[in-house]
Amino acid sequence: MSKQTKRKGWERFSRVGIILILLYLMLIILGFAIRLLFFSDQQAVSIVPEDSGVISAESTAVPGGNVPEESSMGTNENILALLVDQPYLAVLEGSSASISVNMSTTGEAGAEDLVWSSSDESIAVVDASGMVTGVKQGTCDVTVAVKGNEGVAQSVSVHVRHLDEKNGCTFVDGILIVNKTYGLPANYDPGLEDVCKNAFEQMQKDAEKDGMNLYIGSSYRDYDYQVRIYRNYCELYGWEMADTFSARPGYSEHQSGLTIDCNTIDDAFGETPEAAWLAKHCADYGFIIRFLEGKESITGYKYEPWHIRYVGVEKAKEMNRLGLTLEEYLGVKSEYSGPWKDED
Ligand SMILES: [Zn+2]
Repeated sequence: MSKQTKRKGWERFSRVGIILILLYLMLIILGFAIRLLFFSDQQAVSIVPEDSGVISAESTAVPGGNVPEESSMGTNENILALLVDQPYLAVLEGSSASISVNMSTTGEAGAEDLVWSSSDESIAVVDASGMVTGVKQGTCDVTVAVKGNEGVAQSVSVHVRHLDEKNGCTFVDGILIVNKTYGLPANYDPGLEDVCKNAFEQMQKDAEKDGMNLYIGSSYRDYDYQVRIYRNYCELYGWEMADTFSARPGYSEHQSGLTIDCNTIDDAFGETPEAAWLAKHCADYGFIIRFLEGKESITGYKYEPWHIRYVGVEKAKEMNRLGLTLEEYLGVKSEYSGPWKDED
């Protein structure tokens, strides 16, 4: 063999070797690129808006090979955060109410991507659409989460209330409820209850120290008195209009003996310093402003800054803190069952 043939053979061998080494390096780089893609995909889920109250999704270190499997479980990674419309829901035993939820997304997402659960199904159950049904008196949490990603979730505190009827009066978790759905018998005649009268007198004294003049404009009204008031309004405006500001006989909270109208019963009262003082302090004495502004469709009455109802200090403070009407707190409606029919 000449020197030349020897060199040619060596050159061919080294060229093939270099190509093989290059191919091997390319495979390694490709492998790295794939791994990087999968890892960055996992981390993208944890972006959640600040102060939304949403528990942020934790990026779990799933080996690259498992990613297609997780996707087939149906996790919609377009959903960044969930926000329920209310943190508190009350519902009667055997009744239902729905929770609605807003999604913060980067793409398509729907109700089918969410999963609902109850922390105690002996108290309340929830279906796939967020409809909660009260089972028995008590408190539990209902949680909505992204399917396959329980890290993106929101909870609602659910309170199942017990309704009791005694001699024609309705009590929900021990609170006497009088509104357009729940009336009182014509013979229910307690007068102004002491517990309400005493709380008012204490409040009146303390208001006076702040330079406020609070007094009773109207308090207890019996059934017959309400018949006269309501009939009068019906003659003037018709029953449909009268229903928006005056109670039908038997449906006035004033007949409960737990309600007081403060000072002058007109809209101008709302502009007085006394009205502002009352709204700020009445819960400390066990009263709530019964018909809140903006909640007309829930209470069935227009805003009345003068009308207060005694419910006890603890409950009044809780309703005040949560910004809830008595109907929302107890999970009841306030709707007449039909048009007014005067019996006489
Ligand atoms: Zn009133």
